[in-house]
Amino acid sequence: MSYTLNNKIKDLKPYDPIQGDYKIRLDANESFLAIPKEILEQFHNAVVQTAFNRYPDPYAYNTISAFARYYGVKNSLVTAGNGSDELISVLMSAFLMKGDRVITFSHDFSMYRFYTTIIEAECIEIPKNQDLTIDVDNVIKTANKIGAKMIIFSNPCNPTSLGLCKESVRRLISSVDALVILDEAYMDFWDQSLLNEVEQYDNLIILRTCSKAFGMAAVRLGFAVANQTLTSIVRAVKAPYNVNTVTQAFGATVLAQKEMLDKGVAQLVESRKALFGGLKQLELEYPKSLFLFNSCTNFVFIRTLYAKEIYEYMLENSVAIRYMGEYLRVTAGTVEENTEAVRLFAQFLSQRGA
Ligand code: PMP
Repeated sequence: MSYTLNNKIKDLKPYDPIQGDYKIRLDANESFLAIPKEILEQFHNAVVQTAFNRYPDPYAYNTISAFARYYGVKNSLVTAGNGSDELISVLMSAFLMKGDRVITFSHDFSMYRFYTTIIEAECIEIPKNQDLTIDVDNVIKTANKIGAKMIIFSNPCNPTSLGLCKESVRRLISSVDALVILDEAYMDFWDQSLLNEVEQYDNLIILRTCSKAFGMAAVRLGFAVANQTLTSIVRAVKAPYNVNTVTQAFGATVLAQKEMLDKGVAQLVESRKALFGGLKQLELEYPKSLFLFNSCTNFVFIRTLYAKEIYEYMLENSVAIRYMGEYLRVTAGTVEENTEAVRLFAQFLSQRGA
């Protein structure tokens, strides 16, 4: 007897983030802010009080209530997940059938395509414009023409750092029959969220995460927000105990700290502005070598002829950034980290005589 792997998985490779001991990590869009000591003490108390022999609350009630209060949405419209990554996978497996057509954009978050492979949906990647903006009319036309069942995209976008304004997103949602999964993982850094409008649409699910603006990537906590009908389905199809008790408690604790979270977001935006400003200076000096995209996020996206060389140069100097073909993505870090990253960019460009 011999076991044969099926075609949809046989060539897959495990997700392979940059690993290694780099002094500065600006490669994963994480927050550079540490959780304050008083909050860590609350985490400690939560761990001590956890009934480890019991299953978690399947609805993560306290956690979604804290989320709902922070954003001013109804908690009956919120479902918690083990990171928004898990929710992407759950939504695709529940709302799509084998062979259904899903629209994603190029470039956008790579996991969207990955999950369509697993469920054997057909992934149609619509290219973005030359300037990496989205041609909404073309998306609407294509979705309706091919009978797309789902459109999934990030807004603001990872990796391009660009945002699509509310008005355009509303037009897209209301002009298609497809279910729109609007991934607002970076929306805490911008002000064009549709979170408060989910009840106006029968085809909208919004994803949020604690991994970026709230500095809790390690904890794995994400949320899906949608109208009542869609939320009932999302709650029905997720695994019952998908968010562990410790994560639920940490999430509820942090999401109750509105002032701290708002201050943290403001610091991250300041940091991105500083990084952007430093790199913009270099763009002015080396206009043929660097092009920066406007950023609505906590990272800066750059087109450069020297992407691979700069990436390797940074790694040699113990700074990890993200390399993507002709682009580089640099997460905003502390003042010192940003200064070092900009210094290395400058050093590379001057040595290269670019
Ligand atoms: N969506 C986007 C656009 C992201 O960039 C990421 C993280 N890289 C995720 C979702 C996943 O986030 P989480 O940590 O909540 O799984």
